Amino acid sequence: KPPFDVNLVRRDFPILRETVNGRPLVWFDNAATTQKPQSVIDRVAYFYEHENSNIHRAAHELAARATDAYEGAREKVRAFLHARSVNEIVFVRGTTEAINLVAKTWGKANIREGDEIVISWLEHHANIVPWQQLCAVTGAKLRVIPVDEDGQVLLDEYAKLLGPRTKLVSFTQVSNALGTVTPAKQMVAMARSAGAKVLVDGAQSVSHMRVDVTDLDCDWLVFSGHKLFGPTGIGVLYGKETLLNETPPWQGGGNMIKDVTFEHTQYHDAPGRFEAGTGNIADAVGLGAAIDYVTRLGIENIGAYEHQLLAYATRVIKDVPGIRLIGTAKDKASVLSFTLKGFQTEEVGAALNKEGIAVRSGHHCAQPILRRFGVEGTVRPSLAFYNTCAEVDLLIATLHRLTSGQRRV
Ligand code: PMP
Repeated sequence: KPPFDVNLVRRDFPILRETVNGRPLVWFDNAATTQKPQSVIDRVAYFYEHENSNIHRAAHELAARATDAYEGAREKVRAFLHARSVNEIVFVRGTTEAINLVAKTWGKANIREGDEIVISWLEHHANIVPWQQLCAVTGAKLRVIPVDEDGQVLLDEYAKLLGPRTKLVSFTQVSNALGTVTPAKQMVAMARSAGAKVLVDGAQSVSHMRVDVTDLDCDWLVFSGHKLFGPTGIGVLYGKETLLNETPPWQGGGNMIKDVTFEHTQYHDAPGRFEAGTGNIADAVGLGAAIDYVTRLGIENIGAYEHQLLAYATRVIKDVPGIRLIGTAKDKASVLSFTLKGFQTEEVGAALNKEGIAVRSGHHCAQPILRRFGVEGTVRPSLAFYNTCAEVDLLIATLHRLTSGQRRV
């Protein structure tokens, strides 16, 4: 028995009533971004209707309401990630900004020539490029953990990469291109015993599984609100409190200072020191509402439902002639990545779009891992808890029709 009634849940998402090419929308592009429940849309509107003000500065009623809403959202994020303190939660624009923040602050202050930064082959470009840039200016070296034929990281190869020169390990908890769930807790522990700091990219994990930063014991964990049923333009950098307070700020400006003279500026402790200027207040509040929504359904319930749906989809997609599934690790979340013999990925995407089915086709901002499997792109349906078996059946039927009717020689 499913842990919740998916048809009731679907009613919470107004966009799921859209039609595309005369068909009901099937949203299978959840790894790119997720849809928003009415409660999130309403919460953002409520902020602008009743609470809108800049925060912290002015001593008037609306400033107090806005500050309460914003700081309330920070507490919701803290509880969701099981962090010890709200001081460990920094609001940023998204995963990309969070990783860049760490690279440009902690990285700049701590990485030297000859140091090594370890990432995995699975990484999104957002967890490759900032480290490459840091290596280019410091003379540090980027090293990459290889994966096996199923798309899972090779732990023994990872162990060999760790050594006295390793200053940082940064890896994803779930691959956006293949859906692989990495053994994050073990990987963090291995990095730690080598004396390295560890960043976990939670962009694809927080919406599918329970993430507990205290249990993981990572130094930083980052995610984007828009992949967690919240607004775009808001994301989170979790960092251990002492580490954040030892790290120099990135941008300078208002909100992040205790005192400014022309000679000297004293910075706030975290999170303020990393939140210069007026942030995305309304969308932070919207993210808080998204976390409330997910928490009401139960992240474990969500994971269990999606797991069944992914297992079903994986089973039935194998019967499509010419299909090659890429990413067959035992532990996976949400993502099916495939190529179809005789068809460009874009053609498959267009054929599915005709049926109202939205999937991503292309390189998914993760070119190295796709090239590892000898392809430049895949078709990538990615599931969320509001998807159904009937939607999976429509996807599979469309693929069957495509391969039988339009097969090329
Ligand atoms: N890391 C992973 C694993 C992702 O899936 C994504 C988004 N596709 C990102 C980082 C970047 O997230 P954003 O574009 O929201 O900054």
